[in-house]
Amino acid sequence: MFTRVKTADEIAAMRISGQMLATILKQIDKDLSPDMTGIDISQLAKRELRALGGQHAFLGYQGFPDVICVSVNDEVVHGIPDKQPLNEGDIVSFDYGVQYNGMITDSAFTKVVGNTLESDIMRLIKSTEQSMYAGIDVLKDGVRVGDIATAIERVLAKEKLGIVRELVGHGVGHHIHEDPNIPNYGESGTGPVLLNGMTIAIEPMATLGDHDIMIDSDGWTIRTQDGSLSAHFEHTVLITANGSEILTAW
Ligand code: MG
Ligand code: MG
Repeated sequence: MFTRVKTADEIAAMRISGQMLATILKQIDKDLSPDMTGIDISQLAKRELRALGGQHAFLGYQGFPDVICVSVNDEVVHGIPDKQPLNEGDIVSFDYGVQYNGMITDSAFTKVVGNTLESDIMRLIKSTEQSMYAGIDVLKDGVRVGDIATAIERVLAKEKLGIVRELVGHGVGHHIHEDPNIPNYGESGTGPVLLNGMTIAIEPMATLGDHDIMIDSDGWTIRTQDGSLSAHFEHTVLITANGSEILTAW
């Protein structure tokens, strides 16, 4: 289904959903420390969302067994929370989805556990986040998917980062994944046209090595083939007449 122009009520529900999501990611960002496990993070999300009154959007989606994806080091996305303690210096991505009044938002961020002085890791994280904002910056009524893709690609290519190709951004709202796909590389002036009132998830995934990925034996976790570290940032964004509104901002 191509993502629909949302009604005022649907947008209002997505604002609430997005703020619940942001509140929880912010809490994870604050609490993250060595020796925490993926299960600890998952329990934090469950506890907080129950208190806020939202519903988990990922649990059971195509059979996904948890409420949040926790992807460590060479894991790009879709890591399943486990009991393995995180280590100082690990680079961890958290990808989470919330449903409220039937409307879904989707957001992710990447952070190093503890402190790191490794400049390559900081460059990977910073540039991946910057590329997401570069994609958001070109949004407005009538923007084409290729315009977004090109803006993201420009930032990542300049830093010579691997741009994951098989995984892409997407429309979002009534469902977690709505058409169109929004790749993180492309040609400006091409692709579907997006309109004022549509809601999309922009989510660059980049690596310090090559862009090739593989699926783990658990059937979910996606890793870099060459074992290089990877980062992932994502916001759900409402396209407006002259720009955009980030619904999952924190
Ligand atoms: Mg996501
Ligand atoms: Mg997404």
